[in-house]
Amino acid sequence: MNDRHAMTVSSDHPSDAECADYLEQIVFFIDNELGEADCEALRKHLETCNPCLEKYDLQRTMKAVVARSCAEVAPRELRDRVMLRLQQVRVEITTTEA
Ligand SMILES: [Zn+2]
Repeated sequence: MNDRHAMTVSSDHPSDAECADYLEQIVFFIDNELGEADCEALRKHLETCNPCLEKYDLQRTMKAVVARSCAEVAPRELRDRVMLRLQQVRVEITTTEA
């Protein structure tokens, strides 16, 4: 009978809006761009909120993967192709302008 009511009211759990706020901060937290007070609040939230903690882990893992793939030197062939394409674009731009 009271299913709908039970779903919307969860007194001991942070609200979705609160989580959305924290999820925005997670990006800055990972980049170490978050203030000391905000860090503390976020850390406390992650301890109590499993969904947010999972998203934090995911974001951190993704960032590590991206950082690693960027650190690798691009294959020579690929780099040449990109450079060639850049030159073509530049030529296209100059011909359209002229
Ligand atoms: Zn949360």
